[in-house]
Amino acid sequence: MFKKKLELIFLSIIFVAIVVLAKNYYDSYTFNKNDISDEYKQLISDKETQILALMQKHYGYTFKVPIIVTNKFQGKLFGLTSYRDGNIKIYLNKKVMRESMHYIIDSVIAHEYAHALMFKKAYLRSIKNAHSKQWMDTCLNLGALNCEKYVNQNEVIMAKMPF
Ligand SMILES: [Zn+2]
Repeated sequence: MFKKKLELIFLSIIFVAIVVLAKNYYDSYTFNKNDISDEYKQLISDKETQILALMQKHYGYTFKVPIIVTNKFQGKLFGLTSYRDGNIKIYLNKKVMRESMHYIIDSVIAHEYAHALMFKKAYLRSIKNAHSKQWMDTCLNLGALNCEKYVNQNEVIMAKMPF
């Protein structure tokens, strides 16, 4: 009788373990295969609204840039801004989103928006100059908590996108 009970306990533990593993697998599967969650979309959209309000406050106008979430990034870049043929776009790296969403919301979106504004105002003519003093002032004005420039990361693109 005791043995039977023990067997049942072991079986239950194994069953629970399988369920947990399957759930983890499913979560990462859905995250990789599907669009980002509504919660993330809302966080990004709320942040964009804040940034645009700050832009209005500091510069007297708003300038909305498409924000594209993609898993096609190579490497650990959080985001990048591209400028091509007069079109400015912000890309966010879906691959690092789950572990770095706070940072992306607190700092990366405003960081990229500051690049977008530099492009818009035609202040940025060379990538070498991407993290200028002017850019940093803009980054802070747009509400980023951290406007440290990314080191050794090529996140301003003035050519064809690598993906
Ligand atoms: Zn940058």
